[in-house]
Amino acid sequence: MKDNRWEVMNEQTKLTEVKQRIEAACKRADRSTDSVELIAVTKHVDAAKILDLHQLGLSQFGENRADVLVKKAAELKDHSIDWHYIGSLQTRKVRQVLPLISCLHSLDRESLAVEIEKRAETEIPCFLQVNITGEASKHGFSPEEALAFVNRFDFQKIKVIGLMTMAPLTEDDAIIRQAFTDLAALGQAIQKLAVRQAPCLKLSMGMTNDFEIAIEEGATHIRIGRALVE
Ligand SMILES: *Cc1c(COP(=O)(O)O)cnc(C)c1O
Repeated sequence: MKDNRWEVMNEQTKLTEVKQRIEAACKRADRSTDSVELIAVTKHVDAAKILDLHQLGLSQFGENRADVLVKKAAELKDHSIDWHYIGSLQTRKVRQVLPLISCLHSLDRESLAVEIEKRAETEIPCFLQVNITGEASKHGFSPEEALAFVNRFDFQKIKVIGLMTMAPLTEDDAIIRQAFTDLAALGQAIQKLAVRQAPCLKLSMGMTNDFEIAIEEGATHIRIGRALVE
C-alpha cells in the first residue's frame, strides 16, 4: 500500500487555507460562512484523491465529463457523496448522468432541458448556465435568453434553483466583479418572474482565481479545483 500520509497532509493544509479565505470573504461581505457551499472540483484527480478529501470532511464534488463521473461514482459508491455536474452535458449522456447527480450546474440550452424533462425520474435541481459577458467561446444562455427561457417555462422535472457562470480569464478584478454582479442582478430579475419551478435564489460562481470576489457578490456555491488539488 502506498504511504499517502504526506499527500493527505498537503490536502489538509490546502483545505484549511481555502476555508480561511472563504471565512474572510464572508466576513467582509457580512455573510455567514455556512451560506457558501464549497464544491471540490475533482476533474483532474482520481477516486483515491477524492476519498482523501472526503475523509477531510468534504462531501460535495464536481465533475465535468460524463464517462469520468460514471466511473468515479461507481468506484466511490459506498461513500456518501453528492456529485455536481459542472461541464457541458451532451444530450445523449443525460440518461446516464441524471441518476448519479444531486445537482446540474450547466443547464446551458433549451434542448438539454427538453431531454432532462423526458429522462428524469425525480425532480432535478439545476442552475442555468449564463454566458454573462457574451464571450464567443463560452457555453450558456445569454441573459436575454435566460429570461425568455424562464418566462415560457413548462417543465415539471427541472427546478431552476439559480444561475451559474464563469468569469472572464483576466487579472482585472473589476471585470470579474462586474460579471458576478451582472449574474446576481439577472437572478433577481428572474425571481421577479415568480415562476414556481424557478425560484432562482442561488448563484454558482467563483473558482480558484476569483472565489473571494464571487462570495463578496453573493455566491452560494463556489466550485474550487486547483486551490484544493493540484
Ligand atoms: C474546472 C472547473 C472549475 C474549477 O476551476 P479551478 O480554477 O480549478 O478552481 C470550476 N467550474 C467549472 C465549470 C470548471 O470546469
